Formats: sequence, structure tokens, C-alpha cells
Amino acid sequence: MASPELIGELRSILPEDRIIVDPAELFVYESDGFTIARNRPAAVVFVLSTEEVVAVVKALVRHEAQIVPRGTGTGLAGGCVAYDNGVVVSTAKMNRILKIDLANRVAHAEAGCRNLALSDAVAALPLPEAEKGTGAFSSGEKKGTGAFFSNPYHFAPDPSSQRASSIGGNASTNAGGIHTLKDFVTSNHILGFEMVLSDGSVVEVGAKDGCYEGEGGFDLPGLICGHEGTFGIITKLWVRLVPKATSFRTMVAVFNATADACNTVSEVIAAGVLPAAMEMMDGTMIRLVEEAFHFGFPPTAQALVLIEIDGIDALLDAQLDDIVQICKRNNAASTEISRDPDRRAALWKARKGAFGAIGRVSHSYCTQDACVPRSMLAQVLTTIDQIGREYGLAITNVFHAGDGNVHPIFMYDERDEAQVQNVLVAAERALKYCIDVGGTVTGEHGVGVEKLHIMPYQFDRPTMAQFQRVKEAFDPQERINAGKLLPSEKVKVTLLKPGRHVPQ
Ligand SMILES: Cc1cc2nc3c(=O)[nH]c(=O)nc-3n(C[C@H](O)[C@H](O)[C@H](O)COP(=O)(O)OP(=O)(O)OC[C@H]3O[C@@H](n4cnc5c(N)ncnc54)[C@H](O)[C@@H]3O)c2cc1C
Repeated sequence: MASPELIGELRSILPEDRIIVDPAELFVYESDGFTIARNRPAAVVFVLSTEEVVAVVKALVRHEAQIVPRGTGTGLAGGCVAYDNGVVVSTAKMNRILKIDLANRVAHAEAGCRNLALSDAVAALPLPEAEKGTGAFSSGEKKGTGAFFSNPYHFAPDPSSQRASSIGGNASTNAGGIHTLKDFVTSNHILGFEMVLSDGSVVEVGAKDGCYEGEGGFDLPGLICGHEGTFGIITKLWVRLVPKATSFRTMVAVFNATADACNTVSEVIAAGVLPAAMEMMDGTMIRLVEEAFHFGFPPTAQALVLIEIDGIDALLDAQLDDIVQICKRNNAASTEISRDPDRRAALWKARKGAFGAIGRVSHSYCTQDACVPRSMLAQVLTTIDQIGREYGLAITNVFHAGDGNVHPIFMYDERDEAQVQNVLVAAERALKYCIDVGGTVTGEHGVGVEKLHIMPYQFDRPTMAQFQRVKEAFDPQERINAGKLLPSEKVKVTLLKPGRHVPQ
């Protein structure tokens, strides 16, 4: 509970309807998408401007309340869960797009702007005069309709949560996505930030207002990406806009063995082909997606690889042919190629909706996230499946295979404490195994509270100490999101707490 004095001070800064203190309403903010980490915040506030963020931060510091930044809460590692009577400061409603400058290929937006809302707003603009008729973006032209000049730009990071997640959250977690294989992660698309630090100061780092490159000095935007809300509250971002492909081929290869699909992925990469995306689903996930979207995938399929290539139209068919040969060499039961934009859109919609479909078969699920060498995919999936079996847990997989991200999804019932404990223990073993084979503690979801205890398994003492010094440079008193990403003496989080509050 927030003290009456703190609530009074927050009310002097923000209107009543942007402060939540009612326990029933706070329930919604107890967790993010990693629902095992659950704790009720003392309060939740919604800010609309940098000035409000500064005033709120100063008030929270005066009252010694932990400050917990939150975007739209789609995170999968418990990064925006408030412990120790912390107050959630949500930028979700601070979501204006301030400027889209197509001539300079940059956009400026507030942290709460949803990822897809930004790309949609960019797409709605006409192509700048200077680029009309250059032929550079002529693919898909409809002469005489004006569509020839449609603008090809977008904000490239495309996490599957892009309809809901905010660009502030994307930058804070350094989100990846379906097209990370070719377009890279969020940090490659961030030019600059405005951020409020825990002492209430406002810093602006990186390039802004039309500049497409950094400003010199340390690459602070690069450092802030992936800070998981532990440095400060991001209020505004300057982001890169890049042209999206106008020619593409989409292909679905179905396999009767998961190992064959995994070997296909690693062979495509080894062959030097760079697809725009290469996603994989296992048999359970195929059947869930089939039930929800009716693509006609065979019920016996054990794995599916969804591959997209893009680039110069004339070169695509030959590239695709190489990929088809690799699929066939690895015993693909079928391959389907499509140039149809509607089919392509439907396939990607299904892929992005895959997580939601799990609700049909399991009360709860926990998505794990690591990155492993792509040549190890088959072995990694088999071992993680064995670990799941040891703990009586069913696992399904849907993941960005092309970049070596693995997302084993543990299915369980969170009303059963024993199952929750089993998920946590099995997840830890799976993650440590991924690190043992040369992988990393997180592929894209971040560390949050979920993987805090595994950080020292991946990083040695000097490295952990250096991380700590970086945190101290931004937030020396540990006022912001202490106990996330890095262990903290100030806020200690135990996920295996007996008698944990569990929603029924
Ligand atoms: C169905 C589904 C699919 C997903 N697919 C992907 C995927 O393909 N790739 C991927 O990388 N992730 C994916 N995610 C995870 C999640 O969507 C991303 O981590 C996303 O970037 C989180 O954004 P958010 O706005 O929801 O942030 P939140 O969940 O609100 O917060 C995440 C972290 O960022 C910090 N934060 C948020 N906003 C700010 C701010 N303004 N200032 C400072 N810190 C802040 C928080 O403190 C927290 O540590 C998926 C999640 C779901 C539910």
C-alpha cells in the first residue's frame, strides 16, 4: 500500500483517473506475461509528459518508493513487476508520434507508442517528392492509381507482440522479432533517447531531429537498449526508418521429424543464404495453429519451418530453389511456396498469434527464451524436451529458429504449486544447458526477475561487477527497478516463495 502522504503528493501532480490505488484494479498490474512473478504494486501511475515523469520520480524518491517503469506489460521476464511496495510508472498512455521525417528517414515518438502504431502511421504517409519516380521503390506499382508512389518505410523491429508492445518497452528489452535474422534487433534501429534519471534530471542522448548517425562520445543509446528499466524512464525516442522489401517469397516446409526441420535451418544458414525470417513450430503448435487458423497443415506433421526471403525480384526464385533443395535433402514431407500477399499475411498472422492459441490446451504457460548456436538446435530441443518430461511438463515450441532463439513453452496449471515449482526448476536446468552448449541466458526477452539467478552462471565475477558499475553510473541509489536484470541487496525477489499468491 502507498502511504496516504505519497498518494496525496501523487494527486497533486496527476489527475485522479491516472492514479490507481484500489487493490482490485492493482491486480491487473501484478505481473507481465511471465505470470509466475507476481506482486501487487503500491500504486500505478500513468504519465503523459516528461515534466510529469520528472515530478513523479522526485515524489517517489522523497517517499523512498521503488520506481518501476512499465510500457504495456507484454514483457516475458517479470521486468515491470513491482516488489517491495514499489510504484509502477507506466508510459503506456504517453504515446504520441511527434514527427515522421521521411526525407531524413527518422521518426520521433513518445515511449508508450505501440510498435505497430508507429509503422502504420509511417505507412499512411505519401512518398516524399524527391523519391517519386526514381524507380527505387517501384515494385507493386499500380500505374495510374498513384500507388506507385506509396511509401516503403517502416520501423523494422517486429516482435510478435508488436500490436501491443510499446517502443519504449522494445528498446528497454532490446526486443528481437520475426525479421531479426535480417533486420537485426531494436538497438540497431534506435538513434536517440530522452530519459528521466532517478535524480529527476532529463538526459538526451544520441542523434535526433533528422540526423541518421550518432553524435560522438560513448554510444549511450546502445547502452540504454536492453537496460530493462534499470537506468531511468525513457520518455521519447528517435528511431530509424528503413525501406521494407517489396518483393518476397514465402515458403512453408513440413517435416515428420523435428530434427529434420532443425537441420534444415542450420543448413540454410551454413549455405550462406540470408532469409528475412526463418521460424519454426513443433507438432503440438502446428495442431494448435491449424485449429485456430485452418491452413490445411497435415495432422501428422511434427515440425514446420516458415521461411521468407526478400530482395531483388529476379534473384528470388533461384535463392528459393536452393532452400527447397535443402528442405528436400532433410526429408521435408512437403514444401509450399507463395508469392500471394494475402497468404503471406495470413501465415504471419498465424505465427504471431501462435502463443495465444496455447490457451486452448493449457491453463497456464511459461515461455522460456535462450539463444543457442544454430547448428545445435536439434540437440537442444531434444534435451529440453527430456528435461520437461523429467518434471512431468509438456512442452511446445515456436521460435525464431533462424537466429538461434529457442522458446520452449512449458505448459502447466498455475493453481498447482508443485507444477509451478517444477516449471521453475526445469526452466533453470534448460537455460543452464543452453549456456553450457555455447548459448546465452536470453535470446530476446531479457532477464527481468526470471533469470536473475542465472546471470552469474553466464557471466564471471569481474563482468557482473562491471555491469553493477554501469547501473550505478545511472542510478547510484538503486531507486529504479532494483532487483531486475542484476541482483540487488535492496530488493530481493524469490520466485519459489511458498504460499505465493495464485489467481484462481
Ligand atoms: C505474445 C507475445 C509475443 C512476444 N514476442 C516477442 C518477440 O517476438 N520478440 C521479443 O523480443 N519479445 C517478444 N515478446 C516480449 C515483449 O513483448 C517484449 O519484451 C516487449 O519489448 C515489451 O514491451 P512492453 O511495452 O510490453 O514493455 P513492458 O513489459 O511494460 O516492460 C518490459 C521492460 O522494459 C521496461 N520498460 C518499459 N517501458 C519503459 C520505459 N518507458 N522506460 C524505461 N523502461 C521501460 C520495464 O521496466 C521492463 O523491464 C512477446 C510477448 C508476448 C506476450
